[in-house]
Amino acid sequence: MRRDDPGGPGHADFLAADHDGFRTRVRALLDSLVSANAEDWESERRISRSGWRSLGEAGLLSLDHAGPGFLHSAIFLEELGGLGFGGIRASVAVHAYMATSYLHMFGTEEQRQRYLPGARQGRLIAALALTESTAGSDLRDLATRVYATESGYRVQGEKLYVANGSQADFLITLAASRPPRGCSGLGAASLLVVDGDAAGVSRHPEPMLGWHSADVCRVRLTDVDIGAGQFVGRPDRAILHLVQALDFERLVAGLLAVGGVGHCLALLHAFVREHHVKGVPLGAHQAVRHRIAELESSYELVRFYGYRAAWLQANGRLDTRTASVLKLRATELAVTAAQTCLQFHGARGYAADAVAARLYRDAMAGPIAGGASELLRDLVYETT
Ligand SMILES: Cc1cc2nc3c(=O)[nH]c(=O)nc-3n(C[C@H](O)[C@H](O)[C@H](O)COP(=O)(O)OP(=O)(O)OC[C@H]3O[C@@H](n4cnc5c(N)ncnc54)[C@H](O)[C@@H]3O)c2cc1C
Repeated sequence: MRRDDPGGPGHADFLAADHDGFRTRVRALLDSLVSANAEDWESERRISRSGWRSLGEAGLLSLDHAGPGFLHSAIFLEELGGLGFGGIRASVAVHAYMATSYLHMFGTEEQRQRYLPGARQGRLIAALALTESTAGSDLRDLATRVYATESGYRVQGEKLYVANGSQADFLITLAASRPPRGCSGLGAASLLVVDGDAAGVSRHPEPMLGWHSADVCRVRLTDVDIGAGQFVGRPDRAILHLVQALDFERLVAGLLAVGGVGHCLALLHAFVREHHVKGVPLGAHQAVRHRIAELESSYELVRFYGYRAAWLQANGRLDTRTASVLKLRATELAVTAAQTCLQFHGARGYAADAVAARLYRDAMAGPIAGGASELLRDLVYETT
């Protein structure tokens, strides 16, 4: 279920006339390629290989990460979020934006040629493996190590909560370099691209409360041999790259969440029109109308802000504060909207297989994954 009004004032200030046609095309493609398969992917807990290929063939995995074309990406991400399946949107966004962005931004020409054409076509699936048991919000306590051997380099460690984990053909990961110039942790960490079929890579499903089709796994890297050509960006200086990449990740997560809020509101409107309490539609009760009006007004603001952030990215001006504000506000609004949606559905919304229950489970991951809200509040405060 989607909102009827993709256009409208406010966010449209950042878009051009041809963007409406693009949105219409994207909606039709997502309906036929994703919505039609979404329930199957949810129960299989991952997007099928054929699903990835059809997304690639439709051109939905090769939209721009930067420049004016990013506004098309913003529309795609909002529409993807608007499908109402948090796991699918996370999986696609991790692949097409978050993981591959490291190669786009910091990769060598050889790395780009090796991985990106396959990723665009949906033949190769990408994952981003940063988090560890002791390194989440604070990546300084990395336990994963990369060190030189006689013939190259070796990686050793374990990454948690890796979306697309079981299927990933390549993983962008982060490891502390041992022990360069006397510093440890993020002070001397490197970004790496590791092939999924390399000896020593093993994956173990980590079923989550929501995001069922995101294929979240624990990934072990046991003595994985890599070459010097698998360092992404400057060895030992991952910190320089992470700041930029994490801002981009938060922008993407924020735009997906904006779409999620829109979907949730559409469901809520439909339900309060058709469900009757005390002989009148639920939406006739003032308490319900006011609650929905609060959500609507917050949605307007956050959607406008989302397109402003996308416009900044399109113009090479995205900053940490904007990305943090967007991700913080959009993902937390998605939780509030999902909670309200479930509440007004009553017990039927709390049934394990209810759509409202799925929206709630999925929304709860938003303020944690890709930067917990508290970390973002710190960043907003520090950039004030
Ligand atoms: C569904 C899902 C999918 C994910 N997918 C991926 C993936 O594909 N790749 C990947 O690398 N990671 C992934 N993650 C991990 C995610 O990025 C981390 O969960 C996140 O960075 C937070 O780290 P943590 O869970 O270790 O929490 P911690 O850092 O241990 O923090 C625990 C809690 O403490 C609070 N907190 C954190 N910082 C502060 C602070 N400064 N002040 C006050 N309170 C604070 C927050 O409430 C936080 O949730 C995923 C997570 C989820 C839930």
